Amino acid sequence: MSKHENISTPAGPAVLRRSDRKTLAISVQPDGELELIAPHDVPVGDIAAKVGKRLRWIVRQRAAFADMKRNRLTLRYESGATHTYLGRQYRLKVRCAKPVGVRLRGAYFHVCTNSGNPDEVQKLLEAWMRDKALEQFERRIARWESWCRHRRLPRPRVRVFNMRKRWGSAGAGGRIALNPDLVRAPSICIDYVIAHEICHLKYPLHNRAFFRLLDSVFPNWRNAKARLES
Ligand SMILES: [Zn+2]
Repeated sequence: MSKHENISTPAGPAVLRRSDRKTLAISVQPDGELELIAPHDVPVGDIAAKVGKRLRWIVRQRAAFADMKRNRLTLRYESGATHTYLGRQYRLKVRCAKPVGVRLRGAYFHVCTNSGNPDEVQKLLEAWMRDKALEQFERRIARWESWCRHRRLPRPRVRVFNMRKRWGSAGAGGRIALNPDLVRAPSICIDYVIAHEICHLKYPLHNRAFFRLLDSVFPNWRNAKARLES
């Protein structure tokens, strides 16, 4: 499924790939690009016509991605700004007070700072998220210990690690690295990423055996993945 062609559709240019599937799959990428996967024998004209019928859906998807991008770019570190933790939204309340640090109470992150300036708030909040991330990840990974033992896999050990483009990775000896930003996502997404990396302890590659195992230990993973990507 590596060959692709660029075609023109009522929703603009699209990347078309062919596969053995029986129906057309339409997806909008986060950058707004349209990706189509079609059966080998369907003519390009028919594909474009089908895309035309999904125009409203495509427009909505693109708008949602654009919104998300805007929100991400405007992650602010001052009173009133919104940040998520475990999938819930909280507002910042920034004060100059001691002791310096972050506390989560009710619907607010109370941030006590020396200066009140956004750089300091960002550092404090990121340090808080990192602590909570490790706490959350360790607790969730501990649930896999006996599962791993039964399969003669190494005991999973986690560390938090800033990664630009991925949520996690698994290495030799049961080492699992997870992105601290993952703690901002809903619990189901955290559990999905952990299940995914745990499956890599058995199968390093994304092959059929890997996905069969993932399906068996986390049947709902596609849902969780979609939520995480949004
Ligand atoms: Zn993977």
